Amino acid sequence: FKAQDNKSPTEVLQVDPRHFQPLNTWTTEEIKNAVASHVMTTWSPCKAKNDLPIITHSSHIYLYDSDGNEYIDWTSQAVCTNSGHSLSQHVKTAINDQVDNLHFVYGGIAMTEIRARLSSLISELLPGDLVGCLFPSSGSEANEAAITMARRYSGRPKILSFYRSYHGGTKNSLSATGDFRRHYQQGSADFVKAFNFTPNFFEHAGADEDERVRSALLMLEEQIISENPESIASIVVESIPGSAGVLTMPLAYMQGVRAICDKYGILLHIDEVMCGFGRTGEMWGFQTYPGVLPDIVTSAKGLSSSVAPISFVAVNERMMEFFEDNAPGWGSTFQGHPVAMAAAYANLTEMLTTNLVGHVQSVAPAFYEHMRHCAEVHPSIKGFRALGLYGALDIATPDGEQPHEVHEARTAATNKYFEATRQNGLLGLFRPPHIHIAPPLIISEEEIQEGFDRQHRALSVLDEELG
Ligand code: PLP
Repeated sequence: FKAQDNKSPTEVLQVDPRHFQPLNTWTTEEIKNAVASHVMTTWSPCKAKNDLPIITHSSHIYLYDSDGNEYIDWTSQAVCTNSGHSLSQHVKTAINDQVDNLHFVYGGIAMTEIRARLSSLISELLPGDLVGCLFPSSGSEANEAAITMARRYSGRPKILSFYRSYHGGTKNSLSATGDFRRHYQQGSADFVKAFNFTPNFFEHAGADEDERVRSALLMLEEQIISENPESIASIVVESIPGSAGVLTMPLAYMQGVRAICDKYGILLHIDEVMCGFGRTGEMWGFQTYPGVLPDIVTSAKGLSSSVAPISFVAVNERMMEFFEDNAPGWGSTFQGHPVAMAAAYANLTEMLTTNLVGHVQSVAPAFYEHMRHCAEVHPSIKGFRALGLYGALDIATPDGEQPHEVHEARTAATNKYFEATRQNGLLGLFRPPHIHIAPPLIISEEEIQEGFDRQHRALSVLDEELG
């Protein structure tokens, strides 16, 4: 290929000549102007983008903005940057080698060594008989694909999922999502919602947990019978609903859900998009419930530690056999992207050789203690949950106020708190009524201490605002 003439693109297309300057040469002002005029955001009104820091570089657990401020990455960028911000030579070399040798083939017409190796490694890391893997680009797409496959495999139309859940922003994954339903009403047909047994579920009814679990399971089964069990393809559940506030469910409840699936021939699809790859101190969040094995697993985020956009769906042996002769029925051009798979494979092999999951287990008690202490000393916090390096603090609500009203009725107070987190050097997701804390898994105990020192300073602003 040879350039056709020697006219500059700025003359031909009237493109701003600054686009041909190297990156990192625009001033902060230039960046801010382009953000204000051309950038759109997703879940919040777009003008929110104008207040976001412009991050210029990152290292280890730290991020730096264009004004020279340092932040601890306090929720791992939507629970993704598990391996931190300093990429190892192992990961960089793997990506470079893949780019040099073969940056892309379309997964529908060619196979690659990296796809064979990543599929077999993930199958080996999953317990039970999960053997077949597909690699979309996001958690939403993984759930989209899994829902389609469950329907095709079972010949049944309905998907049962739970009110306390987030499964993604595409049509079926958003329809399966329970949280945010008050805001996003659109959905596709044949999605049924049930109440999952989250902490404090019907606690006010007075019964002990065993009895409440029994009632919750009876209610779920009644609902399934009312829907006609033979119309339900899968039950989709986050092992530990994350966006909803790190809600661990009782073992007996999850065992009961598995038993109901077995009784009615329903597939159990566990969404590990947020928990997968060590967040909870185990490789998989569902290992919190020993013996509860899924038929379908989806995950993303920590798979490549977000070095490249990639997710996976794994299915059990029976489904794998079925799809040998039947198309799974979901696809995208970039599924099975070789560079993304190389990033994931290098990240996973490094996680295993450095025993990152073991590290999470070793710092988890200190993390838990800091979370407990926050709930104890700050009047603005009424409770907490923490598992591995995965935690949520609950913002106190006045008597009679629903938790989700905290945000709507007290936006000014929570906005001030959010600003205080940044002023105190924490950059994280904030979803009132919860404060999520999920730092990169490589964090040390000393750095956890440093993060919570900053967290206490920010919470004292919330104490004042809500006090
Ligand atoms: N499932 C769960 C449990 C998630 O937490 C998320 C995202 O936060 C998704 C699915 C959607 O993943 P993605 O944003 O990569 O599409």
